[in-house]
Amino acid sequence: MLNFKNEDLCIEQVKLSDIAAEYGTSTYVYSKNQFINNFENYKKVLDAKGKGIICFACKANSNGTILKLLAGIGCGADTTSGGEIYRCLKANFNPSKIVYAGVGKTSEEIEYALKNKILMFNVESLEELDVIDNIAGKVKVKAKIAFRINPCVDPDTHSYIATGKKGTKFGIPYEDAVRAYLIAKKKKNVKILGIHSHIGSQILDIKPFKIAARKIKNIVNDLEKNGIRLEYINCGGGLGIEYTMYQKAPSPGRLISELLLVFDKDKKFIFEPGRSIIANAGYLLVKVIYRKFSCGKNFLITDAGMNDLMRPALYEAYHEIIPIRKIIGAQKVKTDVVGPICESGDFIGKDRMLPVLALGEYALVTCVGAYGAAMSSEYNSRPLLAEVLVDGSKTTLIRRRAKWEDLLLNEK
Ligand SMILES: *Cc1c(COP(=O)(O)O)cnc(C)c1O
Repeated sequence: MLNFKNEDLCIEQVKLSDIAAEYGTSTYVYSKNQFINNFENYKKVLDAKGKGIICFACKANSNGTILKLLAGIGCGADTTSGGEIYRCLKANFNPSKIVYAGVGKTSEEIEYALKNKILMFNVESLEELDVIDNIAGKVKVKAKIAFRINPCVDPDTHSYIATGKKGTKFGIPYEDAVRAYLIAKKKKNVKILGIHSHIGSQILDIKPFKIAARKIKNIVNDLEKNGIRLEYINCGGGLGIEYTMYQKAPSPGRLISELLLVFDKDKKFIFEPGRSIIANAGYLLVKVIYRKFSCGKNFLITDAGMNDLMRPALYEAYHEIIPIRKIIGAQKVKTDVVGPICESGDFIGKDRMLPVLALGEYALVTCVGAYGAAMSSEYNSRPLLAEVLVDGSKTTLIRRRAKWEDLLLNEK
């Protein structure tokens, strides 16, 4: 939802220069209508073609206001910790739309999830199944479960975010799936509800999703032969987005349509998009605090560092960086845009062709709504950033900028 109003770059109808003046920098800024639209694009196709729930993967962005807005329009939640379940309940998600995955669920987290009657656990091992069965017995509820199956497909993405390959820690290998379900069927306090797979993130090709779905469908068939009928098929998340103009992402509608074709019509479906809902709705507004020419290279030093946006350092991720005013005809120079932190990995972008920006000018880093603020830390004792929501011509502070005092909050 970026556009120019005369010379000024805007998110929806708000000038970024106004946001910088009102809230300071660096600041995460979100376009409400962008992520609502992204969610609706999933929801309308699922509603038209079948039954089920779109569960936002809230590890991508767990700001309470964003969660509340999504919960309010019928979104469910995909969670990976007790803390995320807590946040989602506080944000008014219907517990019957919350699913819970993760290879290391603790007893405390499992008990909390059971007492709050979430829809189901995506169980990642037989040991975890035992623990869930035991705790459910104590709490006197039936734990509803799916097994997370590793379909052993290799999507073309960064190795750190490929989760459905052979040899990753996630899920149960698909060869062992039927045996796992037969064991679960005998557990007193467990009710089998579905099957789950999530093969990775930032996947720009439908093919690996389809290969995984067909493998899951084979398991569903084998289970039926063994008298186990599943109600839910959870296809996971992982749809990629266009970080650059050279990438092309399939639409959510196409993903859903093609995957639903693999399965019988009577099933209910869950999709768990994170990135493809929130990434392109989020921006990081930064200020140029120094410029430097060193060893034949131009550097722009900004007030945001790798603690604020970890993706470039962690995944060598590419994010566009653009000035917030229209600069016509200016000469562009190759520039490294870096942060203030004492690490060579502390960069936002390398070798970018940018116009020469003045000291104190602002730039916008795009597509950082997913795994941006959510992954930020206080490294180098830098307080967490402010977050601002834009809705049309209105702005709202949805997280205050932390202060130096906050750094000491939990210290004794
Ligand atoms: C991270 C995660 C997702 C979301 O992945 P995206 O690439 O952000 O869509 C979905 N399901 C599970 C189990 C996850 O761990």
